[in-house]
Amino acid sequence: MVGRRRWLWAAGLWAAGLALALAAEALVGRWRRGRRRAPRRGVLFFPSQVTCTETLLRGGGAGAGPGPGPGPGGCPCRLAHGDSALSRLMAYLLSARSSLELCLFAFSSPQLGRAVQLLHQRGVRVRVVTDCDYMALNGSQIGRLRKAGIQVRHDQDVGYMHHKFAVIDKKLLITGSLNWTTQAIQNNRENVLILEDEEYVKPFLEEFERIWEEYNPANYTFFSQEKSRETAQRQLRGRK
Ligand SMILES: [Zn+2]
Repeated sequence: MVGRRRWLWAAGLWAAGLALALAAEALVGRWRRGRRRAPRRGVLFFPSQVTCTETLLRGGGAGAGPGPGPGPGGCPCRLAHGDSALSRLMAYLLSARSSLELCLFAFSSPQLGRAVQLLHQRGVRVRVVTDCDYMALNGSQIGRLRKAGIQVRHDQDVGYMHHKFAVIDKKLLITGSLNWTTQAIQNNRENVLILEDEEYVKPFLEEFERIWEEYNPANYTFFSQEKSRETAQRQLRGRK
């Protein structure tokens, strides 16, 4: 009799414990859902002051430091050390943790180039698609990115690869009129839209994958198809 009562007690305690644990879990879940941050969105306009981005590149926050003058940590460079469209763009870029798809007609900004290399060093999978005409020009960052071991593919001269977009961690889209060149950043009127929205990210990712496959070096033809057919026929005739 005593044993049975004890058993009932134990079972009761166990049930009460379980109920408490479940209630606590439900509460934590509700708290977490409440804290889930809103999707990132933003609009940037250029030209932008070319501000110092050292703090960002060293892992500090966006808009580091107050106005012009020596930067945080006593950065002695002559650039202004405030918030700018450039520093915001870079902060979005540096938020990448797993992947970065870059589709850019022109890329020569040394600051953004360093940011992309930094991501690569951190183990972010970086893939770049660019235009073959621009990448050969002086000041292009593409050669440096390749040297750093970043995968780059380019078009084959039929029309421009004129896109200017980036996708971060497969969930944040950065797109607009801006080429990533210092000239465009500090002189041109340009717009950049930042969207964390699957509906828009998905087609851009699909477009990237299409281009990435199309620019696969394994698919390169060094003559137009017509020409290579002619050449092949000529060679065949020659053999006969
Ligand atoms: Zn500085």
